[in-house]
Amino acid sequence: MMIVMNLSKQKLLDLLKERVEKELDCSLKKEANNLVFGKGSSDAEIFFIGEAPGKEEDLQGIPFVGRSGKELDKQLRRIDLSLDEVYIANILKYRPPKNRNPTSKEIQKHTPYLIEQINIIKPKYLVTLGNYATKFVLSGFSQKGMSKIEGIASLHGRKAEVVYEEKTYFVFPIYHPAAMMYNGKVRGLFEKDFLILASLLSEK
Ligand code: URA
Repeated sequence: MMIVMNLSKQKLLDLLKERVEKELDCSLKKEANNLVFGKGSSDAEIFFIGEAPGKEEDLQGIPFVGRSGKELDKQLRRIDLSLDEVYIANILKYRPPKNRNPTSKEIQKHTPYLIEQINIIKPKYLVTLGNYATKFVLSGFSQKGMSKIEGIASLHGRKAEVVYEEKTYFVFPIYHPAAMMYNGKVRGLFEKDFLILASLLSEK
């Protein structure tokens, strides 16, 4: 007899989290306090992709709970959304020491799980925060082509489309919230991009 299991998206995410905890073998894990898997609604239409957990995220095991998360939440609220209505996860699932940039090898090891999260949630929009997330997604969810993709300064605020495994995603790159904290010009661009995102979402 065949048993057909119809698990909810949340259950599938919980099972994936357990699997990442067991099988992701990476040197970052040794120094990290916690796995930082993802948070938000499993039914989200909008999936935000960050870079890597910082200090506060590592301590709590939850993405975007530190200063970047507060900035992000503030912008989301301006367009009548909140971090609970979207889903958010990072390229890397463990914090790199002293918040250094992710290496190619780490991106290669960690991103298959990000892709699984996206496949479970099936969002319409992928909002990529900063260079790493943007380049990874726009190179077709591959670490290999990343160096050929332009930087966030030229790509932010412009909608793109990526087809992956026969599904089309709208991609909307924006600056990483950490990039605008000490730069007024980037802050202005970041805020403007959220308004563009809001009008994009209202088009549907
Ligand atoms: N920056 C990120 O890219 N991700 C986090 O979870 C926190 C800060």
